[in-house]
Amino acid sequence: MYTIKGKTGDWEVVIGLETHIEVLSKSKIFSGASADYNPSVAPNTQVSMVDAAMPGMLPVLNEYCVDQAIKFGLGINAEISRVSRFARKQYFYPDLPQGYQISQPADQPPVVGRGWIEIMGDDGNPKKILIERAHMEQDAAKNKHDMHPSKSFVDLNRSGVMLLEIVTFLDTKNPENNSYITSPDEAEKYLRAIRELARALGVSKANMEEGSMRADVNVSVRRAGSNTFNERCEIKNMVSFKFIKTAIEYEAKRQIEILENGGTIDRCTMRFNQGDGTTTVMRSKEDALDYRYFPDPDLLPLVITDDQIERVRRTMPELPAATRERFMTKLGLSEYDAARLTETTDISKWFDTAVGDKPQRAKAIANWMISELFAHPENFDITNEVRERDADEPRIITPENLAELVDMISANEINGKQAKEIFIKMLDGERGTIHEIADKYGMKQITDTGAIESAVDEVIKNNPAQVEQYKSGKVGLLGFFVGNVMKATKGQANPAVVNEIMKKKLG
Ligand code: ADP
Ligand code: MG
Repeated sequence: MYTIKGKTGDWEVVIGLETHIEVLSKSKIFSGASADYNPSVAPNTQVSMVDAAMPGMLPVLNEYCVDQAIKFGLGINAEISRVSRFARKQYFYPDLPQGYQISQPADQPPVVGRGWIEIMGDDGNPKKILIERAHMEQDAAKNKHDMHPSKSFVDLNRSGVMLLEIVTFLDTKNPENNSYITSPDEAEKYLRAIRELARALGVSKANMEEGSMRADVNVSVRRAGSNTFNERCEIKNMVSFKFIKTAIEYEAKRQIEILENGGTIDRCTMRFNQGDGTTTVMRSKEDALDYRYFPDPDLLPLVITDDQIERVRRTMPELPAATRERFMTKLGLSEYDAARLTETTDISKWFDTAVGDKPQRAKAIANWMISELFAHPENFDITNEVRERDADEPRIITPENLAELVDMISANEINGKQAKEIFIKMLDGERGTIHEIADKYGMKQITDTGAIESAVDEVIKNNPAQVEQYKSGKVGLLGFFVGNVMKATKGQANPAVVNEIMKKKLG
């Protein structure tokens, strides 16, 4: 259990995350304008009348966006609401032309109800993190403050792009149900799991650096061993794993200090200061905004049928958790290997391609990928993009290359040492198939026992003193003899065969 030492004892931390992911779709949630607002797109060029909030314009719900929400909901094992509603969350800000955000407020059923996602808990055991809801809403536009010394500008391209907000659940009625986040590390693991799932499903790029994933972090503290929840503060708009962890630690310590000095925690909204890693109060409970939610009269309730859910379910790929399970049970990988090879869908696809229909390759492929390829990203195009590479570009090692290499070792065509040499040659830019490289450098493995036997005889004949010592009990000299045979055969003999023959001949 993660605890923080205070002056008067140990404290635990309770964390609730509200994660926003920007949903991938061709057009926006309520308009036909393109939802791809990346920085290379000229400002205010992907804006419909709806996104600009022209009077009288009506929103029309994009069905693909609804499918994306359903897909994510199924991915977190959640109930999909058959009826959910949209409401207006009202506030004034220059990046919000409507004067309100269309969202699905907490007092209404959201499109995605109670679900869960599994992470590796701090105690090393899998831990379910309960999710209260995931709901659809509009993203705001973007204010630009860096284009003019005294003026700010607004780019509406992002206005109306769909967000999915995913809220973790705290079971206040059953506090002993420990299915919530209780450390900065678990917060990071949870966010990574959400990101992995969103990417695997194609629901979002979920990229914190690009702003397509952001989180509000709720933090409270309590005495170690306590079973109640205390008042919390919410740190707004966090966009980096590292900062989230720093912010949780700082905020928890701030609250502990207040409580230990006899103070109380007031519900408040905090800002994180990147410069010094501190949190400061942005607004207190008294200043909390009243959003004056009310049902959006322009939108009908969202009704989802069983057929729609089934249609979406059929489009879903194998999820990372299932892939990990398959790598372990069907391909015999260790838990560690399976975890490394499912870090992204591109990696697991690469691995699956290399293994192909030969499960016996799996372990060797996994070893080569984890110990060699991951260390050479420049030679390892994980997306396996097929294109002609210039001569001065690094050579890309493909799944087919690795499969060929592994197969040649198991067929005794080359030995492990030669395979490593071929691998290094590829890192150095050598083109061609593995067979071609092996041929070019005359690498093959001698398994012909006749040839090996005569090399063994030769070594025995040339080292009478060592033979004497071996026979009188210094069996550690076996390595010396084998090494000499390997040298004599220019490293091409099969070391296992040499070993066996050498032992037999030495008696
Ligand atoms: P609000 O509507 O004020 O944002 P919610 O009930 O939606 O509040 O909760 C927001 C997040 O805060 C949820 O993830 C929830 O689990 C979490 N949360 C609620 N109470 C606490 C607490 N005492 N400590 C930490 N997190 C909490
Ligand atoms: Mg909230």
